Amino acid sequence: MSLVDYPEKISTVVFTSGCNMDCTYCHNYELKIMKEGTIHESEIINYIREKKKVLDGIVITGGEPSLHMNELIKFIKKIKKEFPSFSIKVDTNGSSKKFIKEIIPIVDFIAIDFKGTDYRIFSEYDTEIILENIALLDDYGHDNYEIRITMYPDYVKEEDFLKIAELLKGKKRVIIQQYRKNNDSDPEPYKKEILSKFSYILKDYVKYVDIRE
Ligand code: SF4
Repeated sequence: MSLVDYPEKISTVVFTSGCNMDCTYCHNYELKIMKEGTIHESEIINYIREKKKVLDGIVITGGEPSLHMNELIKFIKKIKKEFPSFSIKVDTNGSSKKFIKEIIPIVDFIAIDFKGTDYRIFSEYDTEIILENIALLDDYGHDNYEIRITMYPDYVKEEDFLKIAELLKGKKRVIIQQYRKNNDSDPEPYKKEILSKFSYILKDYVKYVDIRE
């Protein structure tokens, strides 16, 4: 049960395994590797039945959920059918256009990462593809989304702050998320003043910005 994974809602969080990116700062390291399911979907549905009085919704995160697109879409539809007032949020790294198009009409909130100006450092994707996929949210008029920027200094460089603001121009909700070190040799996180500086720059370009530490 979580108070932080879905804005302003009490949610339960489901993790999917496997990821098609290799971010150095990943905190879900064990989820990067695709594994057979350890929890059957009926267990999740039973859990929601038991807890529905205290839960507002469910968050599906990873790893990268889009790698399980077909099963996941069926699962989401099943939850919506049984619990129509239950809110569903999906977190994605934004790599699959098809997945985003498929979930827009059936979920209540989508969080997409924007990881920096050069996706080739940690993935097989071009930054332009991710931006095109993020733009689908606007094309579909989906108000309930956020773009999360994890402030890993090697990917989100201070000299790129203005460029990132320009790339995200017009977006409705951007979250600047502090990065946390996994071990002592990792780069130091940006100081609070630097996050505030980035937020200040973004405010001129997007409709809503917040810092999550
Ligand atoms: S996209 Fe997310 S789950 Fe995948 S490696 Fe990056 S931080 Fe980890």
